[in-house]
Amino acid sequence: MPSTIKTTCPYCGVGCGILATTEKDGSITIKGDPSHPANFGRLCSKGSALGETIGLEGRLLAPEVDGKPSSWEAALNTVADRFTSTIEQYGPDSVAFYLSGQLLTEDYYVANKLMKGFIGSGNVDTNSRLCMSSAVAAYKRAFGTDTVPCNYDDIEQAELITLVGSNTAWCHPIIYQRIAKAKQENPNLKVVVIDPRQTATAEIADLHLPLKPGSDGYLFTGLLSYLGQHEFQDHSFTEKHCEGLEETVAAAMATTPSLTSVADACGMDREVIDIFFRWFSNTEKGLTLFSQGINQSNSGTDKSNAIINCHLFTGRIGKPGTGPFSITGQPNAMGGREVGGLANQLAAHMEIDNEVHRAIVGDFWNTPNLCETPGLKAVDLFEAVESGTIKAIWIMATNPAVSLPEADRFQSALKQCDLVVVSDCVANTDTIDCADIKLPATAWGEKMGTVTNSERRISLQRPFLDRPDEARPDWWIITQIARRMGFGKAFQYTTPSEIFSEYAALTAEQNNGTRDLDLGSLSRMSDEGYQNLIPTQWPVQSQRVFSDGKFFTRNGKARLIPVTPQPSDCQLTDKHPLILNSGRVRDQWHTMTRSGKSPRLNTHTPTPYVEIHPQDADQYQISDGNLATISSEQGIVVACTVTSPQQQRGSLFIPIHWSGQNSHAGKVGVLVDAITDPISGQPQSKQSAVSISPYPAQWYGFLLSRREVNLDTCGEWNKSLGKDLWRYQIAGETPPENWSNMARSWLCSDQDDVGWTEYFDTAHQLYRSARFTGQQLDSCLYIGTTHQLPEHDWIESLFVEDNISPKTRSALLSGSPPNQSSSSGPVVCACFGVSKKEVETLITTGEITTVEEITAHLKAGGNCGSCLPELRQLLDE
Ligand code: SF4
Repeated sequence: MPSTIKTTCPYCGVGCGILATTEKDGSITIKGDPSHPANFGRLCSKGSALGETIGLEGRLLAPEVDGKPSSWEAALNTVADRFTSTIEQYGPDSVAFYLSGQLLTEDYYVANKLMKGFIGSGNVDTNSRLCMSSAVAAYKRAFGTDTVPCNYDDIEQAELITLVGSNTAWCHPIIYQRIAKAKQENPNLKVVVIDPRQTATAEIADLHLPLKPGSDGYLFTGLLSYLGQHEFQDHSFTEKHCEGLEETVAAAMATTPSLTSVADACGMDREVIDIFFRWFSNTEKGLTLFSQGINQSNSGTDKSNAIINCHLFTGRIGKPGTGPFSITGQPNAMGGREVGGLANQLAAHMEIDNEVHRAIVGDFWNTPNLCETPGLKAVDLFEAVESGTIKAIWIMATNPAVSLPEADRFQSALKQCDLVVVSDCVANTDTIDCADIKLPATAWGEKMGTVTNSERRISLQRPFLDRPDEARPDWWIITQIARRMGFGKAFQYTTPSEIFSEYAALTAEQNNGTRDLDLGSLSRMSDEGYQNLIPTQWPVQSQRVFSDGKFFTRNGKARLIPVTPQPSDCQLTDKHPLILNSGRVRDQWHTMTRSGKSPRLNTHTPTPYVEIHPQDADQYQISDGNLATISSEQGIVVACTVTSPQQQRGSLFIPIHWSGQNSHAGKVGVLVDAITDPISGQPQSKQSAVSISPYPAQWYGFLLSRREVNLDTCGEWNKSLGKDLWRYQIAGETPPENWSNMARSWLCSDQDDVGWTEYFDTAHQLYRSARFTGQQLDSCLYIGTTHQLPEHDWIESLFVEDNISPKTRSALLSGSPPNQSSSSGPVVCACFGVSKKEVETLITTGEITTVEEITAHLKAGGNCGSCLPELRQLLDE
């Protein structure tokens, strides 16, 4: 009988509920959970494709110590011994943990307890520092607590939704679809998108503000000035519940006193700003969603407070349809915040620099060794690794050698570090390449524990797959090492539910309403109750926070924070005259260690690319489809050029997903300066000074192969997984002396006597070859002098055939099916494999005028809906 388990998506902070069904044949079917309040049954393209990512290929499946396989017992003892001796010799601050928003709350809790409670150092930080720590700092400054004051159902109740620095359509697709639906159902709902780029999100915008990169702070201090000048202050709310108004409005007026000053600072027309300010002022039910475009800045905390100030000033908080809503990037960034996963937090929303809080946590954990000062934040922490101050680091479930700014610099630092332990479920990452000790962790589908989403809703990830023999849950690994370091009494857990109960009890400890995170009612759940936990939003009793106007500052009043906006700390020079923005694409997640396993997802954007405005492309002699070299003071990236008028002039965009595992030079982190916000420590990943020039390719090519291929002798390459094959895009500055020899060195073994066919057109410098095993196509290579090579789709389709006919064999090297020249081109709808060309052909019949009609004819857009913005764009074009 098929069995269905309710679980939670492991990707973004929307936190969608999933039904994972094990079918009679053992295969897994993934569907959205209709009863989960985050998604009501919907899933985006990434969530829908989860079933393709659960195989064991590429998994780390056994412990390794110093490059050799190890038993668990020996590996755990070695980690514990080496950490203990480092601490004895150099003190507790010589060691560090670097955690991840992919960890479960229970994993996070015990890691934090071990480092801050028993080792006695604050050096435990997390990749969430790179994602939303500016929002955390801003909430704490304004409300006295790190509390997101909004719920998803505010979307349906709002009459103005402002999306700032958030390509919601691609990064939080289910929230975007919810907004699009709310807009359809409520003609009064207006949507404003504030973003330098005209992203897919702007498709549903009534107003798009293409502001100068990094100028958001000016826009929101300008809005506060406007609200003050036009008397939109909610006197009854602010007088009772807020402080700091006068100085905050004065600070806003000092830099942005007029529409003209805002227009100048933001590089936009005064009229557009005027419309936005009027809409915001006159709409009581205003919801402002913000994300990485605000947070990843040298003044991300101030920018977040500038947004919060406008909501406090107008009293638009704590009421349905209102509030400043930070959308978290990762599935459990919020859970990490709750248990104190950031270096400057304690646990359960308590603070290291608060003596009362330290006493509560120290007594509760029964430890004399609680850390007394905050630890190092991510960039500082890796700088301490570089300088040798930190001598031992344990990295859990994350890939900082790709995601940190100046990624190559910090990868080198890790390689020099005395001890690097990595626990992960993936065998090959840029970070695990630096590890002395590798510990295999269980993956999504195998582990059990809670995650908290952007609206403070706690859901369980439940197992529905067998655990591979040697893989272990992160909480188990951490507690085993804690025991071996001599802290066994405090780490006697045998199940994640025991950890959750303890954490929930800590949130209630001496709380008495002083902290809004109080999960005391969940602390007495039995193991069975925990396993049956339904998605639960906190505060558990009321769900809506701040509706009583009570905040968690010393005097209970919310604080408006005076903000003097700052330009981005991006020093443009003649050498580096362009601003680089980085971000996500629709169908990939982080460094692709999971999403890259799905052939379906890999069809949308299979190669690293740089987006550039067509006029900038002309200026820098870059052409669409060719490779370009993007350089900063820190490093270089080589990426395929995509020209787009939706990109602002003077700016480039490169996605974050490529690493040293799937590209030769596609890792955008190497270009980003390690400049951070002074309060949150979050890096400025959205604005780096770069230059662009044509990559001097003498040849372009692609290679398709059933096996992975070593391309060390190739110039540039990147790879993605297709159906039954690996797909490589390749290029180089100098062609080899003999293409035939080069092709054989890539595709064949020494004594290869399998079928081989090749073609060389010397006049046009075209080379093509194919290798057959029996009647099957094993691999093939296509080389030319430009990027205009045959489309892949027909050739890729031959890899699923067992018996290639002689006619097809002879057509193969031409790149087109016998008697045809057609190809369907890039895929738009990953769910149904519908290509851009199919959609364009349908539209050019002239009979199709709506997205619904495209869906009716081709199914595209009819499942997860992630491609709807692109379908709309194709219709517009
Ligand atoms: Fe997963 Fe997509 Fe939902 Fe995010 S929006 S939680 S990626 S299904």
